[in-house]
Amino acid sequence: MYRLACRLRLAGAVYNDTKGVTIELQGEEKTIAEFLARLQSDDKPPLAEIKSVAAVDAPVIQGDDKFTIRPSDSQGTALSQVTADIAACQDCLAEMTDENDFRHEYPFINCTNCGPRYSIVKTIPYDRPNTTMSVFKMCPKCAAQYEDVTDRRFHAQPVACPVCGPKIWLTDSKGHTIVAKTDSSIAEAAGLLRAGKIVAIKGVGGFHLAVDALAEQAVRRLRQRKRRDHKPFALMADSIETIKKYAVVGEIAEQVLKSPQSPIVLLPKKEGSSIAASVAGGVDTFGFMLCYAPLHYLLFAQGVEVLVMTSGNISDEPLICKNETALEKLGQVADAFLMHDREIYRQLDDSIIHFIDGRPVPLRRARGYVPTPIFMEENCREDIFAAGADIKNTFCFAKQNQLICSEHIGDLEDAEVHHHYIDSIEHLRGLFEVEPKVTVRDLHPAYLSTQYARSLSGVKIIAVQHHWAHIASVLVEHGVAGPVIGIVCDGTGYGTDGAIWGCECLIASLEKFERFGHLAYYDLPGADKASKEAIRPLLSLLKKSWGKEFRLPNFDWLIERIEPETDENTTYDIRNTKYISEQLDKGVNCVETSSLGRVFDAVAAMLGLGGYNHFDAQLPMALEAIIESGIEDHYDFELIRSANKAVELDLGKTLKQLIADVKKDLPAPVISAKFHNTLSIALLAMAKQARESAKLNIVALSGGVFCNRYLTNRLIELLKREDFPVLFNREVPANDGGLSLGQAAIAAAVMNHES
Ligand SMILES: [Zn+2]
Ligand SMILES: [Zn+2]
Repeated sequence: MYRLACRLRLAGAVYNDTKGVTIELQGEEKTIAEFLARLQSDDKPPLAEIKSVAAVDAPVIQGDDKFTIRPSDSQGTALSQVTADIAACQDCLAEMTDENDFRHEYPFINCTNCGPRYSIVKTIPYDRPNTTMSVFKMCPKCAAQYEDVTDRRFHAQPVACPVCGPKIWLTDSKGHTIVAKTDSSIAEAAGLLRAGKIVAIKGVGGFHLAVDALAEQAVRRLRQRKRRDHKPFALMADSIETIKKYAVVGEIAEQVLKSPQSPIVLLPKKEGSSIAASVAGGVDTFGFMLCYAPLHYLLFAQGVEVLVMTSGNISDEPLICKNETALEKLGQVADAFLMHDREIYRQLDDSIIHFIDGRPVPLRRARGYVPTPIFMEENCREDIFAAGADIKNTFCFAKQNQLICSEHIGDLEDAEVHHHYIDSIEHLRGLFEVEPKVTVRDLHPAYLSTQYARSLSGVKIIAVQHHWAHIASVLVEHGVAGPVIGIVCDGTGYGTDGAIWGCECLIASLEKFERFGHLAYYDLPGADKASKEAIRPLLSLLKKSWGKEFRLPNFDWLIERIEPETDENTTYDIRNTKYISEQLDKGVNCVETSSLGRVFDAVAAMLGLGGYNHFDAQLPMALEAIIESGIEDHYDFELIRSANKAVELDLGKTLKQLIADVKKDLPAPVISAKFHNTLSIALLAMAKQARESAKLNIVALSGGVFCNRYLTNRLIELLKREDFPVLFNREVPANDGGLSLGQAAIAAAVMNHES
């Protein structure tokens, strides 16, 4: 704004206040009009997003002939100061490759348009002394750029150069320095990677474990050493051209890959690609990202083609970001460590994007996106804290009209993740100066997030039903208050009747909801085990579908198809059907559920895709990955409507017909397609009944099962064909990672409309 005002010779000032940015302008009317026009277009910095501009007349100040930047009004600073970490910009990359530039080949080059932000901020105001860059004293050259308002590095807090900034070195797995110099340590690390070694690389949000993605032996070694990890590994390349050799990159995908946020993008695998088989088994996509730290580009310039770049942690623990912790925890995993001394204050996982209805939507929201707020239509009366869910946890603060969602935290049952959760809450609260008077928790009484919410003193606690929060996350993203027809397809969430809900049709607004319909209840035996061992929902669904005619021996052939996998913590074979069958008959440790995720588990198991979810949604993802395209067939289902009760979706016929197909040896990819098609038609039928009954038209979709691209795309297509306007998550994940946003939005709406 300063540069634009000076160029147009306008007098006045610019400053941050509680409303955002205020600009005072004095000059010719047409010049001011030009300023406003150019503000929205050509002069806007790449990262600026102008939500709205309001112009009012103000009295002329005599003798004011200069344009100045005024210090921020401290009241208003917290809302707009700390931004997300941004990938290296083209200008910086050009300087880095320019032999005559004093930052030639410098791995920490950055400017106001790029570089680390949220990951290095300790506290506000966002000034260098409050970042992890405080230990580096700027040299005169850097300082001159930092202070020059016309320079690209004006007030770029992490500005640095080879003389004054952070450095890189390479150590062995014990922490002994192998190469001390920045440039030669990068070259040496690249050499180790080419030789099939595992190198831990410190990046922007934490350590990655890197290995040559084309070397099967090396990738397998990484998998073994990382322990118990079946999840697909993310990949990195330094150009779109390279990615295109291994995956299908559409136009929108290319834009997302090249975006300043630089997330992992899920792309369809190219047939016959030479990526090692154990990089991403059981899924039909590769998760690719482009280099985003200058260091990555320097590494790839040393003759590296594609790297596995997976989170530097052991199984489900938090991402590691400290040098000492990396050596301590990853010493058995990595052969070498490429370290640097720019401390990462907050660890941030790579964000993951996939595509629904042709649009990019997040599966994991972290680096590049957090802490960018999501805006509400109205200000909230009090500051709010929403505790989120226990799986794929994020939490959220509401302040004024902003919803500030945390980065992906993880699964709270891991003790270290839980510790990280509490720590992160305090950090983000401090950065945005939030003083919550209201806390929102999930309805589940035993959630760890619920226990945390209860431990907070002096706040009002609101409990919000899980699936209502899912729908609210969609509503607030789209600025819609509702009511709408909300369809949630999910794993599990605690219901108002004490059952475990999962596949729900809600008539929901931000202020209230009612349950219009749901998947017919079936018993889920064995509590937590039921979400891992597919045999549990499978047996229950068989018993429910066949009723009195159910005889266990009749299904021996089907149960034989399940892979005999056992959890390391379980002492019996997960195919131990007799034990589970008795449990179901006696109703011991069983809970009623309408979970759809567990139906996916059961079907995947019957089709021989495995019997155990080593990570969340492993079996449903495998079921989606095998779908044969071009199949229009489906199975039958029933929508049961009875007086004073919610509509029930009964999949008894579906399962009977599906099992008949299995018996006939119909190929699994065809059965999977028919199963998915059935669900999309059944959910459409449910939506039509809701439309008729509630006289509503808009449909909102959310819940973890809608991370299934085939099902979601197909359902959206069917709904649109029937003239339903369809809303789905686009800012936060449809899975539990988006739950806290919905929780906070509900609390804000409920409080604002309380009399
Ligand atoms: Zn830059
Ligand atoms: Zn310098």
